[in-house]
Amino acid sequence: MRERIIDTAKKNGADLVGFAPASRFPADHSIFKIFPETKTVIGIAFRVLRGTFRGIEEGSTYYQYTTMAVENMEEVIMPAALLQVSLLLEEEGYLGIPQRRHQTVMEEEGSTNPEVAYNFIVRGVKEEPQFDFTDAAVLCGLGEKSFHGVLLTDEFGPMIRCCFVLTDAELEPTSLKEPHLCDGCKKCVSECPGHAIAADGSTDLWRCAVYYNGANGTRNPFMPPDAFADLEDRLEIIAGEAQVTPEKAKQILDRIIFYPPAKHSYQTSVCGRACDLACYIHLEEKGVLTKKFKIPFRRREPWKYELKDFE
Ligand code: SF4
Ligand code: SF4
Repeated sequence: MRERIIDTAKKNGADLVGFAPASRFPADHSIFKIFPETKTVIGIAFRVLRGTFRGIEEGSTYYQYTTMAVENMEEVIMPAALLQVSLLLEEEGYLGIPQRRHQTVMEEEGSTNPEVAYNFIVRGVKEEPQFDFTDAAVLCGLGEKSFHGVLLTDEFGPMIRCCFVLTDAELEPTSLKEPHLCDGCKKCVSECPGHAIAADGSTDLWRCAVYYNGANGTRNPFMPPDAFADLEDRLEIIAGEAQVTPEKAKQILDRIIFYPPAKHSYQTSVCGRACDLACYIHLEEKGVLTKKFKIPFRRREPWKYELKDFE
């Protein structure tokens, strides 16, 4: 059945499949709140198309990343694979409980998810536990956790998204990966246009939301010269240097109307996940990723506007 699960996931768009016995998870982990009889967590990972980053790299097209690498994957591709794997388990007499990201529902009261509109998020929902997907993917043997807290895989580096199936079927585990990709270079930190990642690798999610959405004018080709005209610290915002509290973040996000969002409340990524991209380029340059391409991703000096364009 293990091979049939892998085959079904791959036929439905997955690239990597890993299996973690429930014993790898702490006894108070939310997988046991969701399904106390969990015996195996199946991790299913999908590459994020490298081509979807191209338009942002060139400063030309921005919808491709958000629609094809976020929205379509979360709303279409991953649910289809989760459904088919879970159906296979049910056919064999087991339960398959699909786990996809709750993009607009969160347990925390004061946090946010940069990928969706902040005012679409319902916060403080304790009855709908959601576990840490990066940690779970590592326990499924899919890869290692990066300095800035994302999954790094041997094949695609950080260009990967994942989902899970909890099941009462006992399936042979996948070995854990020995961390070897992240070398602590901190390019993920220095390349964020909003300085949202701290020196210890933690991310300020409100700050990330602001700059994911394009508040840094030097990296946003859609921002008019008089952007944020009513805000005193407009140049600090545009430079990526503003003080950002949750309230301030909402104020800024309400004014970022230069480029329309996608559907299902997904926001268009104007930063283009610069943190992950910097990491990917670094790993590609080091030659450590197993999926090779004919030409390197970064071909030219990255484009940039000047702060004086907004003065
Ligand atoms: S850019 Fe990648 S390799 Fe470098 S510290 Fe960040 S996560 Fe690690
Ligand atoms: S580069 Fe973008 S996604 Fe990464 S931390 Fe900065 S704003 Fe967030």
